Amino acid sequence: DAKRQGRNTWQWYCGDLIDNIAEHVIIRRELQEAIQQQQFEAYYQPIVEAGSGYVCSVETLIRWHHPTKGLLSPAAFMPIAEQTGQIIAIGRWVLERACHDIARLNATRETPLAVAVNISPMQFRRSGFLDEIKAALAKSGLPPGLLELEVTEGTLMSNTAQAVALLNDVRELGISVALDDFGTGFSSLSYLRDLPISKVKLDRLFVSGIAQNVKNAAIVQGVITMAHHLDLAVVAEGIETEEEQLDLQQRQCNLLQGYFFSKPVPFDVLSQLPLLLNPPSQP
Ligand code: C2E
Ligand code: MG
Ligand code: MG
Ligand code: MG
Repeated sequence: DAKRQGRNTWQWYCGDLIDNIAEHVIIRRELQEAIQQQQFEAYYQPIVEAGSGYVCSVETLIRWHHPTKGLLSPAAFMPIAEQTGQIIAIGRWVLERACHDIARLNATRETPLAVAVNISPMQFRRSGFLDEIKAALAKSGLPPGLLELEVTEGTLMSNTAQAVALLNDVRELGISVALDDFGTGFSSLSYLRDLPISKVKLDRLFVSGIAQNVKNAAIVQGVITMAHHLDLAVVAEGIETEEEQLDLQQRQCNLLQGYFFSKPVPFDVLSQLPLLLNPPSQP
């Protein structure tokens, strides 16, 4: 019986694996078409000043209008794009789109919005990356001070010396860098000390339900205090309730992002959003 079960498990495993490989091959081919036919769309999620509720920047989050499956989130295709290298073309498109869109939006605003773009590990390590950024800025006219790159600890981990050199070049252009998903990877405090970054993004994992979890609260408070002593601003991701907003605001978190303020929205919707989103009730 154990033998039979083992065999079933094995068959199940093989079947699953074959399904996965087939799925992988299909997505790879479809991604190629998506790149050629421009099936991607840049969505934008507002990031607000914790104290005021003013929208000061937006994070660019890619979506795929799949011809049969509808609107797909990055989790459904970005890992494959990273494996196949298609991320390079996709990443370049996102960077150009984001700079173009926000430069255009800022032409209608008194106070300009900044825009953050997620950068994948492969994109970051490629030699032409800095030139790609310069090209996107030049083409759109977006001032470098309004562009922010979001990188994860994993991206910086593999070759720290090279990463520091690139981050310094990026900073020299006037572009800022945020450390994304902080606390979820193989975090090393020496990154916060040594890397030329300006912001830390606290992962939603620690932020959601903060009032009900004293351990999360301790981690969040610790990171905020430490970051401030290191002259880094802190963004809390995944704010979904007023309770979380007030909690993070009271802990002196600088910036807030989450469904409580707005979900990621297409450019047209972003253009219509008010400048002030759910300002805190107790200033
Ligand atoms: P991320 O950079 O950490 O982005 C934040 C994610 O949290 C986004 O998911 C956003 O929609 C989601 N989020 C924001 N507020 C809330 C909230 O209040 N509640 C909940 N439950 N979720 C919230 P999304 O758009 O599915 O993106 C997932 C990840 O995919 C991103 O995580 C980022 O790592 C990656 N990604 C997205 N766009 C790009 C891109 O253009 N390039 C690269 N390289 N990666 C991207
Ligand atoms: Mg991000
Ligand atoms: Mg994040
Ligand atoms: Mg994340």
